[in-house]
Amino acid sequence: MADALQHAPSPAASRNGDVEQYDVLILGAGVTGLYSLYRFRELGFSARAFEDASGVGGTWYWNRYPGARFDSESYTYGYSFSEELLQEWDWKELYSGQPENERYLNYVADKFDLRRHIRFNSRVASCVFDEAENRWEIETDDGHRARGRFLITAVGLLSAHYVPDFEGIHDFKGPWCHTGRWPKEGMALAGKRVGVIGTGATAVQLITEIAKEVAHLTVFQRTANYCAPLRNRPITDEEQEEIRVNYPEIFRKCMETPGSFLHEFDTRSALEVSPEERMAQYERLWQEPGFKKWLGNFYDVMMPGEANEDYAEFFRNKIRERVHNPEVAEMLVPKDHMFGSKRLPCESGYYEVYNQDNVLLVDVRKAPIQRITPNGVKTADAEYELDVIIYATGYDAVTGSLNRMRIQGQGGLTLQEKFAQGPRTYMGIQSVGFPNLFTINAASVGNFVRAAEPLVEWVSECVAYVRDNGYRRIQPTQDSEDGWTQHVVEGGEKILRTQADSWFVGANIPGKARFLLTAPDSAPMMRAKRAEVVANGYEGFHLE
Ligand code: NAP
Repeated sequence: MADALQHAPSPAASRNGDVEQYDVLILGAGVTGLYSLYRFRELGFSARAFEDASGVGGTWYWNRYPGARFDSESYTYGYSFSEELLQEWDWKELYSGQPENERYLNYVADKFDLRRHIRFNSRVASCVFDEAENRWEIETDDGHRARGRFLITAVGLLSAHYVPDFEGIHDFKGPWCHTGRWPKEGMALAGKRVGVIGTGATAVQLITEIAKEVAHLTVFQRTANYCAPLRNRPITDEEQEEIRVNYPEIFRKCMETPGSFLHEFDTRSALEVSPEERMAQYERLWQEPGFKKWLGNFYDVMMPGEANEDYAEFFRNKIRERVHNPEVAEMLVPKDHMFGSKRLPCESGYYEVYNQDNVLLVDVRKAPIQRITPNGVKTADAEYELDVIIYATGYDAVTGSLNRMRIQGQGGLTLQEKFAQGPRTYMGIQSVGFPNLFTINAASVGNFVRAAEPLVEWVSECVAYVRDNGYRRIQPTQDSEDGWTQHVVEGGEKILRTQADSWFVGANIPGKARFLLTAPDSAPMMRAKRAEVVANGYEGFHLE
């Protein structure tokens, strides 16, 4: 019965033979998918979301691994569109954990009655544009088809999980999983010999948590990271009260900063103050929670150069202070990339894990993993016997989740073919040859919901504009797409995010073209750019 309800068509939809018809098809029921569904329905569209999972939440549905939590302040991450929702929901911790985050998104789905417009357990395999009818037709893995005038890919920035193609993966006799597909029933780790491959933001959270219960932990590290203390704690009742009153101010502040976080850079250079003052600021920020020590510091720590290296050395020394064995400490000290060129993992006792007798750190840069054996992991110089293997090996970011479907536009061209050398879009949102398709998973950066909300609003208003003005199609002009692509390349050269080999530029996936996958601009600049496009009558777009 529950399943029948979940698969019931959206009320405003119609049918043409076997195929359900909607105005808008939304792929995904995570943070952006849910809000898209809400917005489009508010604007009077019939809309249906298709979700691979059995529930809502996206990232917060799949990432059930122990230790998964926000590293944005919880109260800056929630939706801002409903004052009622803001007043009803209390975040319990400064940095809320996965179970609570999933509960929140379920609460939102129920409060706004979104669930009945979502088809769950529906992995979309193909999306094909019918040029004669100006309609997108999608087909799910189980053969269900639906058609819509507009297609919105709310499939997430980091959702196509990546497991390296190690020989022998399926030979391993014990249980194994990727962190982004953590089983709902959990993994039995207590008393087991567990291996974790990877030391990114996910692994750092996971390792700290599971080190408390496993018999033995082997961590396979290729690249050491700059990790900063999260300093999570419960939010007190008084603080809760204050947050509820201050939401407008909190969101206003977030909207002014480059990554939509609360933290503002110090406008001074690290090099214009005395070494004592500089160190005092580093130490003060180190004691603060969250990303402040990154995004609230002297502005030039986030630019290549002397200030960046000075702050990197401060981080390195913090690691050396915390890890007792100097050899292990040196393995954990990042030396091959600049501070801030990769996403900063936040931690809650990560480095101390390596002081435990039952934890072993293995350098797989020196001796790479050669294969997975029935009993564990074999590197170039040893074999490690394990009962469980966990792959914390990241994601085929942004384009990965699009490429895992067949998205076919005009003239039979697929998005996969078009994006082979990196995304070719206008503002990350639309691509020539794919009319009425909005790739909203490809355009957000920073504090996720703060970036996603205005983007969803822009896209839904754009679609309403197309409808209300009697147009059939919208897509960018070739000039605007070329100009934007060039801007991403040139703007990207100037920012730290392109300087390391990470998911930001697709360098974590063998064979993927190196290309900045998100806009090089700050969030306020992106919003201003989109507003200017609207003010000029959707300049840069071709409306038919
Ligand atoms: P990630 O940062 O890409 O890290 C993947 C890890 O796997 C890296 O240590 C990588 O090593 C390693 N790896 C990949 N292939 C390997 C191979 N063949 N052999 C050995 N090691 C290999 O992925 P992630 O940790 O899942 O994080 C991805 C992003 O998700 C983060 O940057 C962040 O934006 C987001 N995230 C957010 C939160 C939060 O908000 N709280 C938490 C977790 C993640 P290399 O570094 O050498 O490639």
